[in-house]
Amino acid sequence: MALPAGEGVVSYNAAISRCARAGLYARALALFREMRGRGLRADEYTLPPLLNSAALMRGPPPAAVAALHALLLHAGLALHLHVANALVDAYARLPRAGCAAAAAARAVFDEMPRRDVVTWTSLLTGLARAGAHAAAVRAYHGMVAAGVQPDEFAVAAVLSSCAGSTMLDVGRSVHATAVRLGLGPFRSVGNSLVSMYAKTGALRDARAVFDAMPARCTITWTALIVGYAQNGRGRRSLEVYADMVRSGCRPDYVTFIGLLFACSHAGLVDAGRAHFRSMVADYGIAPGPDHYACMVDLLGRAGRLDEAMDLLNRSSTELDATVWKSLLGACRVHRNAELAERAAEMVWRLDPTDAVPYVMLSNLYSRARRWGDVARIRALMKARGVTKEPGCSWVGVNGVTHLFHVEDRGHPRAAEIYRKVEEMTERIRGEGYVPDTDWALQDEAPEGRQRGLAYHSERLAVAFGLLAVPAAAPIRVFKNLRVCGDCHTAIKMVAKVYGREIILRDANCFHHMKGGECSCGDYW
Ligand SMILES: [Zn+2]
Ligand SMILES: [Zn+2]
Repeated sequence: MALPAGEGVVSYNAAISRCARAGLYARALALFREMRGRGLRADEYTLPPLLNSAALMRGPPPAAVAALHALLLHAGLALHLHVANALVDAYARLPRAGCAAAAAARAVFDEMPRRDVVTWTSLLTGLARAGAHAAAVRAYHGMVAAGVQPDEFAVAAVLSSCAGSTMLDVGRSVHATAVRLGLGPFRSVGNSLVSMYAKTGALRDARAVFDAMPARCTITWTALIVGYAQNGRGRRSLEVYADMVRSGCRPDYVTFIGLLFACSHAGLVDAGRAHFRSMVADYGIAPGPDHYACMVDLLGRAGRLDEAMDLLNRSSTELDATVWKSLLGACRVHRNAELAERAAEMVWRLDPTDAVPYVMLSNLYSRARRWGDVARIRALMKARGVTKEPGCSWVGVNGVTHLFHVEDRGHPRAAEIYRKVEEMTERIRGEGYVPDTDWALQDEAPEGRQRGLAYHSERLAVAFGLLAVPAAAPIRVFKNLRVCGDCHTAIKMVAKVYGREIILRDANCFHHMKGGECSCGDYW
């Protein structure tokens, strides 16, 4: 591995570069140590491949990037554009790039006297990957404002953030920009657009982009399959899958999550079983926790709790909390307290502070009027110091996100919104709405009780939507938790009496509500 004695910086740079390009990251870093041991100084050509290697090395101490950062500052190389770009990129690429890495990338970025499209794109990608979606969108706007033309990588990254933060309006404007810049034909851009539109509930647009794409890959097909599934069009997902297979494109792990999700939400038990088998037998894909969660959901909806339990007992995969929560959800619907307690225990074994099982059990018992058990679960929750994530809902209007918490009076138009909620309740009562106090009693989030039902965050958001969204457009509401049963009923009726399409995306799926019906078929 060592270079012959007497080799200079140029030889080392070439060797390090070769190793980095070949994916031999540890070797690149070792060569660098050897080079320094021989008293040679790194220059602006040495550092970019090293930073790249440090960021991409498997299971590396992320400190390697920080150490190289310190070194390049010391060597006065921070002002070289391509060195700084590599540094921003390295921070952004660190495995599990969290907020700290994103902040480090940002700090380097802010210090740079000159930035090009690579700099901006590295920052943008890093922020998107760290889940800092609002910051990613700001970075994109900053890039455009600075007169730097976004490329296909920047566009794909910002679209993923639009999807992640459900900023459909911004997504549309990015789409328009991408077309204007001639980036439309890039498959990565098309894939990101299909996914962004599907994840924000704009299925027609997702389909239009998909149809216009000159070439598609597994990611394209999967984005559409998942999109239809999450939006309650399970049968459509299966049709798309059939087309995918006919086109000769091979489904992967994620495709099957979408497919099984589609089957479960459309209540297609036989199709679900068949696809689960085909995944293993025809494609050699070992089912993971997500596939099991979908199967449990599928069987649970059909009331086949025993078969679901059987499937889990026979699995050789390490099951995660999602799987057990699916089983819990099914038990709640079918009021099977015994199995629910077992599923809750399994979740708690993995994480005793997970609030979901407490909420589900408490809901199950209150529906069965077993108040003693409700009290027991609440006491257990309190004793373990578990707190529930507060529920909140938001609506985007003209690119501005309006966020609501339960009984929230912080909005500038609060008085108007509350009058609208009163009016909504009045009008749906006329249609036969009776508040379902089972939901009020179960403490789903600290979202108030009895009277509080009417002021749940999703209802405030819908009221605001009725006031602020033009009559011809659907009202799109997003909620961080699952929608409560009473709000689900109430909002369906609101959609009917006001003649509006309301699209509510909760923590689990989309609810397309129109004319008093919901695409989820009242199971979620
Ligand atoms: Zn509610
Ligand atoms: Zn629904």
